[in-house]
Formats: sequence, C-alpha cells, structure tokens
Amino acid sequence: MGYDLHVHTTASDGLNTPQEIIAAAAAIGLEGIAITDHDTLDGLAAAEDYISANRVRIDFIPGVELNTDYGEDEVHILGYFIDYLHGDLAARLLEIRQARLSRAEKMVARLQDQGIDIPFAQVKKLAAGGLVGRPHVARALIQGGWVKSEEEAFDRYIGRGQPAYVPRYKFKPEEAIDLVKKAGGIAVLAHPGLIKDKAIILEVIAMGIEGLEVFYPEHSPEQVAELSLLADTCRLLKTGGSDYHGPGSSASRNRLGLSAISSEMMRLIRDYYQHKNPVGQNY
Ligand code: AMP
Ligand code: ZN
Ligand code: FE
Ligand code: FE
Repeated sequence: MGYDLHVHTTASDGLNTPQEIIAAAAAIGLEGIAITDHDTLDGLAAAEDYISANRVRIDFIPGVELNTDYGEDEVHILGYFIDYLHGDLAARLLEIRQARLSRAEKMVARLQDQGIDIPFAQVKKLAAGGLVGRPHVARALIQGGWVKSEEEAFDRYIGRGQPAYVPRYKFKPEEAIDLVKKAGGIAVLAHPGLIKDKAIILEVIAMGIEGLEVFYPEHSPEQVAELSLLADTCRLLKTGGSDYHGPGSSASRNRLGLSAISSEMMRLIRDYYQHKNPVGQNY
C-alpha cells in the first residue's frame, strides 16, 4: 500500500493521537508513514515510542508541515527526516504556537462581535493542549450549532477574506525551508495544486525547495501530470499523501493512505536524503 507522507494528529489539528495513527496505518497495510503536524514536533516521539514498544512493522519518517504566508496565498512547507530534537526548529515552533494562541483569541473576539458566542475556553479545550488552529475554531462553531461542517465554517467565517479571519504571525516560506534544512530535513512544497497564483510555485522552487507534493487527494489527474512534469524538469523529488485529519474532518482529508506513494518512489526520496546526509541519523 505504499507510503503516506502527509498525516496530522492531535498534536496539531488532527482527531487521532499519534498512537492511533500508527495502529491504523499498520492495520491498513501501509509500508511507511510520515507524521506531519502543523508547526509542531510534539507527536513524533509518541509515534516512535509506540512503534518500538509494540514492535510495529512500519517505516516511520519524522515530519512537519509549516504553514506560511506568501502574498495573498498560503504556502505550506513539508519537512521530512527532520532531527526533531534540534533546538532551532523546536524553539521557533514554540514561538509560533504562542502566536497562534493569541490569534485564535482574536478570531473568537471577531465572532463574538458578530453575535456568535463561542467561548475561547471551548476552542482551547478542543485543541487539547496542542497547537490551536482554525479547524479548532471551526469545530467549536459546529458544536455551537452555528455551522454544519468545517467547510461551512471556513466559507462563512474563518476562511481568508471572511469576517472572522485573522492572519497568522509572520512566517515566510524562505524561513520555513531554511529551518527544515538546518534541522537536517528535506523541504517539500505541500499541495501545490491548492496555490491559486501559480507563479508562486516557481518562486518557491527558486527559494530552494527540494520536492513537490505531486500526489494529493484534491489534485486532479491533470494537476498530477503537470506537477510531475514540473518536478522532472526542475529535478525535484515527488511526494504524496492523504493530509489525513481524522474521521469526520472535511471529505478530502478523512482517508488515511489516499494518494500514498509507491515504495519505489520512496526509495528515490530516501536515496536523496542519505546522499545529502551521509553521516546523519539514517531513518
Ligand atoms: P491555520 O494554520 O490555523 O490557519 O489553519 C489552517 C488549516 O485549516 C489547514 O491546514 C487545514 O487543515 C484547515 N483548512 C483550511 N481551509 C479549510 C477548509 N476550507 N475546510 C476545512 N479545513 C480547512
Ligand atoms: Zn490541519
Ligand atoms: Fe497543508
Ligand atoms: Fe496538512
């Protein structure tokens, strides 16, 4: 069943714990998995501990997804094989998580200005001690009966340009790429098909990205073909994954193993990593 290289857990805005994710991945027969929580490395040790304690036969790649902004678009940078004990990355992510908390508070205040009364404590509780993201605000809106789905929450209130939207802290793709590389990892542009301004893809390539997430549930077959060609032309790695966030999250993010890549493609990624990092930790 290959490798799913894009998965979220409760450490960010997923609904399953790292342990549940590993168990589910093994149960559906994935050969390997990368946990790529937004702006946090907190789920990685738990996943690795669970794998060794239970002797799970799965190839684990420590990852991260860094949400950055570029012009009017969001640019998400995936990092793979990161040394998650590395100080710089962990310290910067801590700062970002703190900024996320006050941003979420502002979004709740904007909702309250519009007569939508969801307590901030509820949003924090939904985040369960992990990072706070817009999906947690969306879930509080669902629980309060204000919207029926996360999509509706984004479309009406917290999506970019909507009345309760508050931009994130300043974090640029250049810095994210740099941090991933300094932590010994490979930097990949997440779901390029979702970027509205296509020129940004080329700009991010020029910033030193090392791979493109070609395979992604929301990419059309035409987009996969175009991105695959672009990766070949620019000599970039090709990755893929489900962006699984758990059962009940929006339709394109609720199937673990979707858009997984073959072990053959994974070998190319690993070869690149080992070539770059001959004496590094070899995952
Ligand atoms: P944040 O980093 O807090 O701005 O939240 C961004 C996250 O919200 C993304 O990574 C997705 O997991 C989720 N998201 C963004 N847009 C939507 C949408 N239209 N419907 C559901 N979830 C979304
Ligand atoms: Zn997410
Ligand atoms: Fe993303
Ligand atoms: Fe994601």
